[in-house]
Amino acid sequence: MKWQLLSGCSKEAEGLDIILSCDGASSVGQVGHEVSVKLTKDVEGARMCCITAVGAGSNVHVDIARKSRRLIMINGCPLQCASKIVREG
Ligand code: SF4
Repeated sequence: MKWQLLSGCSKEAEGLDIILSCDGASSVGQVGHEVSVKLTKDVEGARMCCITAVGAGSNVHVDIARKSRRLIMINGCPLQCASKIVREG
């Protein structure tokens, strides 16, 4: 795997299309993570951000989600953990 260096999303993600993937440990969760990485690499103005930080109540990350141009949630399965975190955040 070739790593793409990204600064912390708390510094640079505001005003972009923000991708929040559930990052589940199951295969479907890992597919979602890979899609997030690919979109971050290939799509200008889009980047993944830390869904765990949103879930943990990090004000910086919650603000980024609120100020994003668009918010894109990727869920690995019907439990929709990423969407629930955003809805309840
Ligand atoms: S939506 Fe939730 S349960 Fe389903 S793969 Fe993602 S983290 Fe796991």
